[in-house]
Amino acid sequence: MSQTITDIIASIQAGQTSARAEVETALAKAREHESYHALLHLTEERALQRADEIDARLKAGEKVGELAGVPFVVKDNFLAFGAPTTAASKLLENFDAPVQATVVEKLEAAGAICIGKSNLDAFAHGGSTENSAYGVTHNAFDTTRVAGGSSGGSAVVTALDIVPFALGSDTGGSIRQPASFNGIFGYKPTYGMVSRYGVVAMASSTDCMGCFARTADDVARVMAIMAGQDDKDMTTLPNYFVPTAPSKINAKIGVIKETMGDGVDDDVRHATEQYIASLRAAGHTVDEVSMPTLPLALAMYYIIVPAEVSSNLARYDGIRYGRRASGVQTLAELYGRSRDEGFVTENKRRIMIGSYVLSSGFFDAYYQQAQKARTLLMGEFSGLFNEYDFLLSPTAPTVAFGIGENTSDPVKMYLSDVMTVPPSLAGLPAISVPAGENAAGLPIGVQLIGPMKSDAALIALSGSMEVHRG
Ligand code: GLN
Repeated sequence: MSQTITDIIASIQAGQTSARAEVETALAKAREHESYHALLHLTEERALQRADEIDARLKAGEKVGELAGVPFVVKDNFLAFGAPTTAASKLLENFDAPVQATVVEKLEAAGAICIGKSNLDAFAHGGSTENSAYGVTHNAFDTTRVAGGSSGGSAVVTALDIVPFALGSDTGGSIRQPASFNGIFGYKPTYGMVSRYGVVAMASSTDCMGCFARTADDVARVMAIMAGQDDKDMTTLPNYFVPTAPSKINAKIGVIKETMGDGVDDDVRHATEQYIASLRAAGHTVDEVSMPTLPLALAMYYIIVPAEVSSNLARYDGIRYGRRASGVQTLAELYGRSRDEGFVTENKRRIMIGSYVLSSGFFDAYYQQAQKARTLLMGEFSGLFNEYDFLLSPTAPTVAFGIGENTSDPVKMYLSDVMTVPPSLAGLPAISVPAGENAAGLPIGVQLIGPMKSDAALIALSGSMEVHRG
């Protein structure tokens, strides 16, 4: 039976189970589902040790945290103890984190226990987990299909009920899109709500840390611990996140017209329309709205993000940490060969595009233009939020695609991000909510987007509309 965080906490408190038993069960399930290749490493030794500590404290009647004994998984671009942090790259193959990410520390302080590190597209570049240097993750519903990405591993461990929640990073959809491909909740907070300290940087102006869970209530529980200002991340906001109960009626919701037209599969459109009908039935007002610059968002994203990627990945030079090429004669050769061996093709493509759009002569034509367009996009969002409480779109234009289907065509692959990148560029909170499935039983997600800092209300709304799978 699928267990939520609430269930696990209740049984631990009632003495029906122990932290150790929960961790052992999660590890056993992880092994049973090894063929999905959702996890790169188990942090077994550390997890069992922490479980025993928590059990001892419970037994002694000491105060334990709110998530005491709850097992979870972190994407392998979060620095965490107990296993290497590879970002699914060869570059960081043997990299042992000297510190833990702030969010991992916070969750551990609350008593949650990390049992493993999940697969991703190397350095989080991708939307299918096919760019992992260690092999693809399989979809929880159809193993011939992709898990989505880049946080595909975290989505699959949650969907398979290995753990009740898992962490992901979302730069342009990496939590939301795999959540929709695997029938679970995937939430990206307002930019700045959660510390990014100790997570391998992708694009600093859009990177956000969030989570996957099987209920909205569990999302809120986890985010209440992850949220808050961090001295080690200057972009974090003072904590404002307080989980709320769903407001049953009367939200004004705008469906973004540009996300419901050509390019969206019929089954996805149909499920989204059904979801809209249930919102109306629940007493919400739903209108169609237009965002004329939305179709340009993907082009903006694939200029701005590679620019930031090329700068953030410059630190991997084979000198300070990570892979160092051997048998080289010169320093330039050392840099070049270490980077060539350590990065996958998609990393290199983004470094090349980023360096190009930032180079003198092209900076004005591409990077600057993209930033101007981004300002227009943000303006359209704020205009709509003067009138609407939330906006809605499908999470992705298709259900999970086949493994290998889009690998030869990067632009086709990028199209999977068309719905998720607009809120990322504007720093807005967004959540992918399970909204049923197509005739073949493949899950479909709907994306709800809120204004800045509306996180608690957004999660509550998504919870009030939970679609229970048969
Ligand atoms: N699929 C998107 C990309 O490839 C999003 C990645 C992410 O959010 N990390 O850039």
